[in-house]
Amino acid sequence: MKRISILGATGSIGQSTIDLVRRDPTSFQVVALTGGQNVARLASDAISLGAELAVTADESRLGDLRAALEGSDVAAAAGETALIEAAERPAQWVMSAIVGAAGLRPGLAAIAQGATLALANKETLVAAGPLVMAEARRHGARILPVDSEHSAIFQALRGEDAAAVSRVVITASGGAFRDWPLEDLAGATPEQAATHPNWDMGQRITIDSASMFNKALEMIETREFFGFQPDQIEVVVHPESLVHALVGFCDGGMIAHVGPPDMRHAIGYAMYWPERRALPVDALDLAAVGQLSFRAPDLRRYPALRLARAVMEARGLTGAAFNAAKERALDHFVAGRIGFCDMCAVVEETLSRLSAAENLSDAACTLETVLRADHLARERADRVVEERAG
Ligand code: NAD
Ligand code: MG
Repeated sequence: MKRISILGATGSIGQSTIDLVRRDPTSFQVVALTGGQNVARLASDAISLGAELAVTADESRLGDLRAALEGSDVAAAAGETALIEAAERPAQWVMSAIVGAAGLRPGLAAIAQGATLALANKETLVAAGPLVMAEARRHGARILPVDSEHSAIFQALRGEDAAAVSRVVITASGGAFRDWPLEDLAGATPEQAATHPNWDMGQRITIDSASMFNKALEMIETREFFGFQPDQIEVVVHPESLVHALVGFCDGGMIAHVGPPDMRHAIGYAMYWPERRALPVDALDLAAVGQLSFRAPDLRRYPALRLARAVMEARGLTGAAFNAAKERALDHFVAGRIGFCDMCAVVEETLSRLSAAENLSDAACTLETVLRADHLARERADRVVEERAG
């Protein structure tokens, strides 16, 4: 039995992970589950899976969590320190599926105990790629990608010599506004942005798909995880979301990973790796699909992709600042304080102000410097939003 913990268990990835655990109960023993506001879901999953510990990120919900767990053997805790303790509980495999930079410290804690980290939380690598990869080497911990594109690249590279790779292409659905007239984008609402044509995901990543901030994060994640150079990393719009990524080799051939848009494939691949096991994922009927289409992303529609190139070049603390500014811009968009297109403008302005004041690109990437850059970028982004409103 593999001892596993799921951080962000109540979210979209967390629930898909739990679905796979329930289908194979004799292979996994659940150690810790963490969540946020939804303590009822957290408690009922923790009880039914026989977890040792359930943690809510929200300290004000601890009483509710305790009440929901009453009469069970599951221990309850709350707050950031408790999240880190959940990640530190001895386990062999830890799913990192918290959303945002909040996933960084628990992910590092799982790495520090030498667990295999199944990484859905792309923000971990965007904010602190050099630190996280170095910590994994230091502790002998393996990181397995769960983002579908990165799982696809990982699978295409199996048995290949990384030095023979010439390029990597990650696909993007194009999000909710792929076919909208450009002039309508400025008036797009959070509700409209939070509907995805192909994938069923959390609200934040769905909005990030409409702006392609998600793809921008994934470009940086590709650079940090696999070590490819920025000019080797390409994005193509693929409305069907069936080809997840392609790896191109020096002989001109490409290996593509193809499958239905169901995250249980990438999650299950990371759960059973290095084995491949049957998963509850539909087989693709290619004749019914008929066609696969690809087109170049329009940078006027998706300016975040341009910013991602600059971040991949600069590295250092630029990724931490980029991600934090993006998270705040998204908060302000969801709260109705800025428009859809303002998100990119706010992030760009924040990065330019912060890099004028701080040496981001040459700075050492430690937990302290990353958290400081994250904090400064959030503050600056809020100020930029205030100024735009006034
Ligand atoms: P979600 O919003 O559905 O779930 C997020 C989880 O994190 C919940 O359990 C929530 O309680 C918890 N959480 C939120 N804020 C927190 C905080 N401050 N501290 C601790 N916990 C907190 O998100 P999701 O769609 O499952 O995405 C999770 C991560 O996986 C993100 O990094 C996302 O980019 C990545 N990802 C998601 C998908 C997908 O299909 N949903 C695909 C690829 C990558
Ligand atoms: Mg992805």
